[in-house]
Amino acid sequence: ASCFEGIAMAPPDPILGVSEAFRADTDAKKLNLGVGAYRTEELQPYVLDVVNKVSKLYLSNWYIAERLMLERSENKEYLPIEGLAAFNKVTAELLFGADNPVINQQRVATVQGLSGTGSLRLAAALIERYFPGAQVMISSPTWGNHKNIFNDARVPWSEYRYYDPKTVGLDFEGMISDIKAAPDGSFIVLHGCAHNPTGIDPTPEQWEKIADVIQEKNHIPFFDVAYQGFASGSLDEDASSVRLFAARGMELLVAQSYSKNLGLYAERIGAINVVCSSADAAARVKSQLKRIARPMYSNPPVHGARIVANVVGDPALFNEWKAEMEMMAGRIKNVRQKLFDSLSAKDKSGKDWSFILKQIGMFSFTGLNKTQSDNMTNKWHVYMTKDGRISLAGLSLAKCEYLADAIMDSYH
Ligand code: PLP
Repeated sequence: ASCFEGIAMAPPDPILGVSEAFRADTDAKKLNLGVGAYRTEELQPYVLDVVNKVSKLYLSNWYIAERLMLERSENKEYLPIEGLAAFNKVTAELLFGADNPVINQQRVATVQGLSGTGSLRLAAALIERYFPGAQVMISSPTWGNHKNIFNDARVPWSEYRYYDPKTVGLDFEGMISDIKAAPDGSFIVLHGCAHNPTGIDPTPEQWEKIADVIQEKNHIPFFDVAYQGFASGSLDEDASSVRLFAARGMELLVAQSYSKNLGLYAERIGAINVVCSSADAAARVKSQLKRIARPMYSNPPVHGARIVANVVGDPALFNEWKAEMEMMAGRIKNVRQKLFDSLSAKDKSGKDWSFILKQIGMFSFTGLNKTQSDNMTNKWHVYMTKDGRISLAGLSLAKCEYLADAIMDSYH
């Protein structure tokens, strides 16, 4: 008998499990709209040109001019626990804007993390250690992994209302009243832009009201920014929610990811930023984040950090990146429009599909329930999460008609 007899089989991950099922399907019409990863119009994974350029520089340097690399300290030595200094610097600057007082006053503790997920996990560990019993509030619904992250960090969480199924829009009143009702000093997890899974973001006026309530209640905003530049195509516009809170002088947390906007999914590159009211507090928070990271994974990987630092640090590459981000965001917007047009033309019931156009980012919440989502997969070979979310990044203009037929068949 195995000493692991008592360990039961874990269920497949609700998002990554969809990709496994997709791979096993042999039908030529199959479509993977489960995972949030950008694909080209040919539905192929996309490596950004700027990333290729920077990576090739390293590869050729490595073989041809190893000495030069060493001179530039671009070897494979361990990074410090907090990560690559040049990376942390540009990352905080991208988020807050280089001339933001929080940066000039050295009030941001930035630590390179294992992409968005790992950065969220570091912050969760900080909350567990220094805010015992504090409540974390997450939106209903949210990215499924938020619950796992806080559960594993042993941080209690509850949900605030966010999605209104009647309008397929934001339940703003519900959101505000739930944030008001939370115990003072709760951590409020907010999606900086392109809310996952709904694609529904508050308007700038609504963000102001959310900030008002959070301030009144002495809550601590905890932003998850996984799509900066990817939602609207503009890095600044997608960071405006975070900057609005920072401009009020609030203390806040931001977990950042380069998986989507620079297509560095597998490099696991991101950061946790904690804005504090003083440089002194920021230094202490940073020291504790490092203390948490050390026994967890010791120090972060270097390759992605160098790519980011080089792309952002070189004006020509930075502009190229911005153009590629606009291109990716633009492709998704085109697909969104085409899907809306196809559904509106096919649906004779008079249903208003304009909610699809109001959503932003790579996801669309279709309003399909679990049974309908099952029909999408079982009959139409369209793979998606069971909450009715589809990734438009996995859709091409050419497949919109087919998807619209599948949605019509599943809805009615
Ligand atoms: N947060 C949200 C809302 C996400 O959608 C994702 C990825 O899908 C992440 C965080 C983290 O992704 P990663 O760990 O690849 O940076």
